Amino acid sequence: MCGIVGYIGKQASAPILVQGLKRLEYRGYDSAGIVVLDNGDFSRVRRQGNLANLHEAIDFSALPATMGIGHTRWATHGAPSEANAHPHFDCAEKIAIVHNGIIENYATLKQFLEGKGHTFKSDTDTEVLAHLI
Ligand code: GLU
Repeated sequence: MCGIVGYIGKQASAPILVQGLKRLEYRGYDSAGIVVLDNGDFSRVRRQGNLANLHEAIDFSALPATMGIGHTRWATHGAPSEANAHPHFDCAEKIAIVHNGIIENYATLKQFLEGKGHTFKSDTDTEVLAHLI
């Protein structure tokens, strides 16, 4: 089962997101990631495996953004991998999304979106939501 955490406030968000994900570790997961938003630009870090892998990969000093979201994933669609770890973007990387659960009609939606020129970077059901929005 996945875990989702979000933060918006006055403090740097990345350490708070990772701390929040650690509190959700008991739920089980196969990969994890965060994205923070700073002046309209996303910075995303994702890793397969333990949260320690994600923690080690983040240069907190380079991420002062005070807004972000984080996710621990339990794969339902697509292998446990960095490419399939959340958060996911749309084509323009203007929307970032994390998600808990299953999108039953994702294959139909994906086919529809690919027909409109969207390209996908993961095998997840979740990514279709970012493109659909
Ligand atoms: N179905 C989504 C995926 O496989 C979300 C799984 C979850 O709830 O962690 O990426």
